[in-house]
Amino acid sequence: MLGYALSAEGFAPRQFHNSELQAEEVRVRVEFVCLENDSAAMDICPGGGLVGTVVESGEAASAFQGARVLVPQIIACGECDTCRRGAAPVCPTRRVLGRDHHGGCAESVVCSGRWLTRVDEQLSLKGPVAAIAAGPALRAYALFCRAGVAAGDVVVVLGNGATAEILAQLATTRGAKLIRSRGDAVANEIAEQLTAQGCAERPQKLFVCEGDANLELAVRIAHPSSIVTTAIGAGAIDIQTLFDRELSLLALSYGHPDLLPETAALIVKGELDLGTILTEAPLGPESLEQSRAEQRAGKCLVVHPA
Ligand SMILES: [Zn+2]
Repeated sequence: MLGYALSAEGFAPRQFHNSELQAEEVRVRVEFVCLENDSAAMDICPGGGLVGTVVESGEAASAFQGARVLVPQIIACGECDTCRRGAAPVCPTRRVLGRDHHGGCAESVVCSGRWLTRVDEQLSLKGPVAAIAAGPALRAYALFCRAGVAAGDVVVVLGNGATAEILAQLATTRGAKLIRSRGDAVANEIAEQLTAQGCAERPQKLFVCEGDANLELAVRIAHPSSIVTTAIGAGAIDIQTLFDRELSLLALSYGHPDLLPETAALIVKGELDLGTILTEAPLGPESLEQSRAEQRAGKCLVVHPA
């Protein structure tokens, strides 16, 4: 299998061993993949959230042979107590495509058939958009569901990047009052937006999608009884502040793959417009650098192996 990975020679193509399939596994030829990794691991092909075609299948996954599928970034066992309780993204034996297992910057990926979503019949999506559905769109929709956003809620989205932009779109189309701050958020600017929308005193649902300082800021500015949801594993918080204002802190590491069909359906129905956050390019030596630049510009780089 030809794939791009970081090594002492930089980000370059090389041959990797084609692993044998387990009974429940499939090999998916990559069509398009999201490249969002800020820091790619050495000797592992990055890229997670992808669309492709099943070209080989284990004996327990033969129903997918030949199908065009969305592949989420998490491969969970699906059998343990954590998975059975609906928390597959934090399965103790999970593997993360592009982080500890070869991702989609390669000719093909190996993954479990269990978490695939077909996109070849009722759900028809163009390649780059399909990859985003399995990447930042799935994460944004999972964040949205995690916090239980409803029409009329005050939603504060902090941080740059594709996940934040998609979350902001979801909040608006679902009738929430959106307060949006990109980059390094400033408390005054958010307070002004809250006042302008006439909701300065209401509990909020705050989402921290990017920026180490934004989690601390979100906790500091949240109105009593607000929910702070973080999609980044960084930043410091003051527990006393959480306690004094009865704030709830929720964390999300990856979107649950069971949300993939709903996420794809939102895009098919036109509830999400991903054209503005998508940049498409062939996979090449510059892809990692380009992905960081696109992230800073609020976009997601989607690459296709040449
Ligand atoms: Zn599990």
